[in-house]
Amino acid sequence: MNRRKFLTKGALGVGATALVGVSPQDASPQQRVTKWDRSADVVIAGAGASGLSAAIMARDQGASVLVVEQNHDIGGHAMVSGGRIPLGGGTRLQKKFGVVDSADQVYLDHTDFHNLELRYSDRDLVRVWADENAATFDFLLDNGVQFEEVMPTLVNGGTIPRLFRTKVYSDDLKVTINGSPGSGLVRALEKSARAKGVEVLLRHTLTRIVRDEVRLKPDATGTRVHGIVAKIDGKEVTIEARRGFIIATGGFTSNVAFRRMFDPRLTEEYQVAGEPWSKQNADGEMLAMGLGAALWGTSNVASEHGRSVTKTRHIGARYGYENLRWNPGSPMFPQVGGAGLTVKSYQDFICVNQFGRRFWNEMDDTYDFLNACLGRHDPDAKSRKLNGGGPIWAIFDADSVRREEWDPKPPNVDANGFFFGADTIADLSRKISNPYQAQPMPARALEETVARYNSYVDAGKDPEFGRPGLMFKIQKPPYYAAWATPILHDALAGLRINGRCEVIDVRGEVIPGLYCAGESAGGFALHGLPRVTVFGRIAGREAARARRQS
Ligand SMILES: Cc1cc2nc3c(=O)[nH]c(=O)nc-3n(C[C@H](O)[C@H](O)[C@H](O)COP(=O)(O)OP(=O)(O)OC[C@H]3O[C@@H](n4cnc5c(N)ncnc54)[C@H](O)[C@@H]3O)c2cc1C
Repeated sequence: MNRRKFLTKGALGVGATALVGVSPQDASPQQRVTKWDRSADVVIAGAGASGLSAAIMARDQGASVLVVEQNHDIGGHAMVSGGRIPLGGGTRLQKKFGVVDSADQVYLDHTDFHNLELRYSDRDLVRVWADENAATFDFLLDNGVQFEEVMPTLVNGGTIPRLFRTKVYSDDLKVTINGSPGSGLVRALEKSARAKGVEVLLRHTLTRIVRDEVRLKPDATGTRVHGIVAKIDGKEVTIEARRGFIIATGGFTSNVAFRRMFDPRLTEEYQVAGEPWSKQNADGEMLAMGLGAALWGTSNVASEHGRSVTKTRHIGARYGYENLRWNPGSPMFPQVGGAGLTVKSYQDFICVNQFGRRFWNEMDDTYDFLNACLGRHDPDAKSRKLNGGGPIWAIFDADSVRREEWDPKPPNVDANGFFFGADTIADLSRKISNPYQAQPMPARALEETVARYNSYVDAGKDPEFGRPGLMFKIQKPPYYAAWATPILHDALAGLRINGRCEVIDVRGEVIPGLYCAGESAGGFALHGLPRVTVFGRIAGREAARARRQS
């Protein structure tokens, strides 16, 4: 197709006059796209929980749908998630258990100003979300998602039982990746989407958003998103989005530079739950920001509520999120490195920073503990780590191992930099080394720390940090050091959208043709799947209903 033929009638007005692309990687935003390799009414980047919901909904409206997915498989973070989906408002399953609920009650529960996690939300978005709760849950049922049929429970922000959990999709780890319940959501949606005619291009990475310059009126021009460029094996594929393009790339937690815009302490040592299966690289956000898109609800990332930073419950492994223990039979396990030792009680160890010092009461499950991890340094002014707190290590002994019933060997631990053992405390400190441990841990400091802690156990009091219930000394070799650094989870801010999931620019105006859903969208700090499935569904519907461009 030559360029003249390709310049199509603009949906906003009389005609398109140029095509430009914006890429976060390109210095020049003016790259021209001269032909479309593929074309669909609605194009979506990301085949996770929001992208698959959007794809099915757009297809249900009669639109042709094409999804590009960076990974070699669908699912995103949702695949390894716990599949806990608290949606209410009177869903079919709520009714089955005799639970009475309404959209108004959902809205009220999620706008209570006492709830610090949700206080800073955009209430227009919460209202739309509440109104679409029941329809979205029933949409999941209609598209084959199966839930554990037990009485739903309450969750944060709820006065009515709404929490149902999806069933694990199958017992084949090649299919479910980790055997997590979230597989029951995304595999069912994938099956339905494919059966309805949605096309998914795997290993295709969104790299550019393409805009038309369109004439709105004889005397005014504007732009409209008209497609994307994706890359596979270094080759570019241009894809026309005739009605709309939806960003569903899942947030920014994996992008160190981007996440530090919200909180400069979130340096590289903080790993991300859901990796290494899929990444949240902020690609969608950066591309949209290149078109002038605004961010929304940015304070939520550092509000010290919700799950942007979490205390690990699986130590001695890199990806030790509280609700995810990697299965050694997972096809991802070679990249995961270790399943982690599941902690029954933080009484069984002390936590030290990279300088070998305790820094806080280990029993504390509040953000105070996390703040101490992220921000507390060695009192020695020579320490060079100024932002981020560096690695946190759990230090324990043979008695702790016995009490916790751990088997501190691979595959339970990752011996490649995230777990160490030695017969003396000094030898242990000398072994601790990985790319995030900026300097050797001083042996004397760790010896002093352990000796001081043991003296607190004898005295029954921790005068430094007030740790309650000092129960066990660390005194029986071998001694161990296990990675226990906090792990990042939710992207709680993202692109500004309106109730139709259209992306809004920094002047408060809609960017025509561009939609966003999922963790890449901001303004509502609700955790996880209930937020992303609802807005995914809305984005798919609205993009499918937009006027066709060619
Ligand atoms: C361990 C774990 C447990 C969880 N448990 C729960 C739970 O029980 N309940 C709950 O509500 N929430 C839970 N969550 C959160 C929930 O899974 C996420 O909020 C949700 O999956 C986000 O959906 P999404 O569509 O925005 O992103 P994702 O599901 O992550 O999908 C984004 C997709 O975009 C792809 N992508 C990224 N960049 C590009 C690009 N440039 N081009 C093409 N594709 C790209 C990614 O590969 C990915 O497949 C959990 C998360 C984790 C990690």
